[in-house]
Amino acid sequence: MKKFNIAIDGPSGVGKSTIAKNIAKQYNMIHLDTGAMYRCIAYFLKHHPGNIEEKLDEIKIHFEEDQVFLNDENVSGKIRNEEISLLASDIAKNEMVRKFLVKKQQEIAKDLGYILDGRDIGSVVLPDALIKFYLSASAKVRAERRFKEYQAKNVEIDFNELLQDIEKRDLQDSTRVHSPLIKVEDAYELDTSDKSIEEVIKEACNYVESKVKI
Ligand code: C5P
Repeated sequence: MKKFNIAIDGPSGVGKSTIAKNIAKQYNMIHLDTGAMYRCIAYFLKHHPGNIEEKLDEIKIHFEEDQVFLNDENVSGKIRNEEISLLASDIAKNEMVRKFLVKKQQEIAKDLGYILDGRDIGSVVLPDALIKFYLSASAKVRAERRFKEYQAKNVEIDFNELLQDIEKRDLQDSTRVHSPLIKVEDAYELDTSDKSIEEVIKEACNYVESKVKI
């Protein structure tokens, strides 16, 4: 099979990582969760307050399977909470931070065989990716999914607060000056609102196989 990259973009909580992980398994590709990288920077800034632009060279991020390491500390469980979500969305507005991470993401994906998910993958990080997806779902559906995830982990959280956080991030991510979340023209839009994960994966794989001989 010819090697190729896949770009997956879409708003918060739409299921990008779950879909990306499944497609990666199906086609023996490597998944790179770019949101985790913005979250790492947010986490670093929380613990080292100051001007992030002056601290970027102190930050080393690497992945081992689906675990993410910030300066060799496994932060996978520590970056998945509402505080870091909002902080990451704030930090993602910064042009220097974006340049720093985009460069790393492009270096990683240059050998092909990667699935990157984020907000600017099809537009900025991998504009030449053979396959691009744009996942969508209403804010309410996304908040409900998040709510269930937190419930499953026994984390108490208020649904309306969660919905507000998602709406706030949607607004920030799609209206920022640098690399806002957009659906690029050549992306296949997949509305996941009324579909199960299995249905979304099936539709995504059908699209992949219509473009590439597997
Ligand atoms: O995807 P995830 O929700 O983990 O991303 C956290 C935040 O990082 C997003 O709200 C967004 O602001 C930012 N992000 C981005 N570009 C990406 C990935 C994430 O701006 N490629």
